[in-house]
Amino acid sequence: MHEALRYTDIGNKAVQCSLCNHRCTIADGKHGICGVRENRGGILYATTYGLVSAESVDPIEKKPLYHYLPGTLSYSLGGIGCNFRCEHCQNWHISQADRAQARLFSLSPEEGVFRALASSCASISWTYNEPTIWHEYTLDMGMLARSKGLGTCYVTNGYITEDALRELSPMLAAYRVDLKAFTDDFYRKICGGHLQPVLDSAVVAKEQGMHIETVTLVIPGLNDHMEEIEALIRWVIDHLGPGTPMHFSAFHPDYKMTDRGATPAALIEKICARAKELGLRFPYAGNVARSRFEDTTCPSCGALLVERRGFASRIAGLDDQKCTRCGEKIEIVRHA
Ligand code: SF4
Repeated sequence: MHEALRYTDIGNKAVQCSLCNHRCTIADGKHGICGVRENRGGILYATTYGLVSAESVDPIEKKPLYHYLPGTLSYSLGGIGCNFRCEHCQNWHISQADRAQARLFSLSPEEGVFRALASSCASISWTYNEPTIWHEYTLDMGMLARSKGLGTCYVTNGYITEDALRELSPMLAAYRVDLKAFTDDFYRKICGGHLQPVLDSAVVAKEQGMHIETVTLVIPGLNDHMEEIEALIRWVIDHLGPGTPMHFSAFHPDYKMTDRGATPAALIEKICARAKELGLRFPYAGNVARSRFEDTTCPSCGALLVERRGFASRIAGLDDQKCTRCGEKIEIVRHA
């Protein structure tokens, strides 16, 4: 069993975990909200270290990451558990599973890096469930991955504490964070968390030099008011920069949220168009059939830079990080 990082003894064999912003107080024999960090006799253990529920070789575009090593494959791993309880979770069968229910296999950090290299991947992604609660495992694998020239990526809800995120910074290159809504009410009622810590950690990720892309799943009747979405876009422009790729994805009914229909593609297009007007350089449409906001175009001259069809992509007009037509510098990472 692997002892956890980032916890303190608070007496009586109880501990406080400071890995994510729940900051759970955990009595002896109990676990935190995530279900995978367990107190045994006053020592906190990361019970899923090295235990994998899902392994796949994915196009990096599937994360989605459009400006990080575009056109490459990413060796993708998921575990079990989550520190959120989103009612619309698309991976609930692993995020809300416990160890008794889940089919898990062991994979050492060394074996993970080997498999990434052997399958011609340019990066490793921790995805499918929340990687924050896999902290120690991703840290060990990530350090090794970087030493072998691989990129690294978290697909995260961003509820990690700032200190824990700083601990990842020597190894974590890309931070693909959900900005699920721009109200605390949504985070509290739908996810079981709070908004501000997510925003604060995104700023820290930026300060640490990580490449950031955001995803907002637009859910009819819950977070689809234009005023709220515009406030979110303005926040990203002001705090993460206008070159931050923002993905706006259409909702489809899933898990416990089946009381409403899918998001109209026209609304996603409208949001992307408005984001451009507000000064965001790279808004993208997700979960909709062929959209003009699927490709990357030059914000300066409009030239096609990266063409996409679903998860397939083709570099069309980039000279490393510059537009081949006008020379505009593009915020895109081409090398791990
Ligand atoms: S990672 Fe978060 S949810 Fe899990 S025990 Fe620590 S503070 Fe609680």
